[in-house]
Amino acid sequence: MRTEFLPFARPSISEEDVAAVTETLRSGWITTGAGCADFEDAVCRRLGCRSAVTVTSGTAAMHLALHALGIGPGDEVVTPSMTWVSTVNLITLAGATPVFVDVDRDTLMVSPESVAAAVTNRTKAVIPVDFAGAACDIAPMRKMASERGIALIEDAAHAIGTVRTGGEEVGSIGTAIFSLHPIKTITSGEGGILVTDDETLGSRIRQLRFHGLGVDAWQRGQQGRAPQSEVLEPGMKCNLPDMNAVLGHRQFDRLDTLIDRRGDIAKRYQERLHGMPGIQMLTTSPTTDRHSWHLCIVRVDEEDAGISRDAFMQGLRDRNIGSGIHFKAVHTHAWYQSHADLWRSEPLPNTNWNSERICSLPLFPEMTDADVDDVIDAISEIVPACERVSA
Ligand SMILES: *Cc1c(COP(=O)(O)O)cnc(C)c1O
Repeated sequence: MRTEFLPFARPSISEEDVAAVTETLRSGWITTGAGCADFEDAVCRRLGCRSAVTVTSGTAAMHLALHALGIGPGDEVVTPSMTWVSTVNLITLAGATPVFVDVDRDTLMVSPESVAAAVTNRTKAVIPVDFAGAACDIAPMRKMASERGIALIEDAAHAIGTVRTGGEEVGSIGTAIFSLHPIKTITSGEGGILVTDDETLGSRIRQLRFHGLGVDAWQRGQQGRAPQSEVLEPGMKCNLPDMNAVLGHRQFDRLDTLIDRRGDIAKRYQERLHGMPGIQMLTTSPTTDRHSWHLCIVRVDEEDAGISRDAFMQGLRDRNIGSGIHFKAVHTHAWYQSHADLWRSEPLPNTNWNSERICSLPLFPEMTDADVDDVIDAISEIVPACERVSA
């Protein structure tokens, strides 16, 4: 058994990252400045999008997008319940109604058909999720949204660096948010980026991230902002500090290397978990050309495995291995259960089935092949049905 704990996620911080943050700390300017501007330029160059706006979290990026779109009371926003709670919380806080649609049982992503079926004349936005680092089937959703005059914001918190079938990298078309939380594929400590090919929306969000002033916290060549700047509309305060931006930028420059290593680890998991009774990995959607492998998810089905998901996770913990749940369906959380009048839902059989069985295995670039094998060995010990198969 492992003597050292294997976490389910761990950021890859290089000496170069440490040096970049240290240099910023010593520079005399640690909040939003040249570090953010350079990072945003690099994101725009890679994706070919018009605007990239760095903020303090993926949640903040979504908050600003919903606010800029004017989403409020009487509006509906269609999204999966199999997602992180942040989007649904924001829809609710805006006074709008989240409308949940079911996901595919094995990709955990919404289909264009299920989204279209949930749209009404009150629908103001649709927020699909690129789950685990795969790409959702966005083209038909874009078409439907533009025909019906509905906004489409892609929750790409899992999918920086993901490439769609046909070669389009996630974030290069339309409006999307990325998260730079430490468990995500690249991190800035905390942070997020909104990318959009709508320049007007991008400028508005840039303004909204800093009090709604007509200027940024920092303007090129000026070290600071003009003291006379005016509020053009009431805004938030969620600009990303340069301390974080330089870390995110260094990580972004290594994105392909990090994804390649994640892919190798995922492949080893796939090979070794294949045929393991009661343990089902997700399948990769046909709309994904390059999976960025933010998460390696299995579903533990008690009937076949002979163990519940929660006991499975405890078994891993007892063997010094961490794991996670991504996600417990939002509508099953306490507040949403006690406020069922404030959301609407299509039937969610696949969401519910997965919510009770889902488990994320350790996956981060510095993991060794031996670490993966430790996880597999632990699973073979924990899952009673494995004995049946090997006996
Ligand atoms: C992580 C995550 C977010 C929010 O990102 P933060 O940077 O933590 O605010 C949004 N949506 C999904 C699906 C996520 O996994």
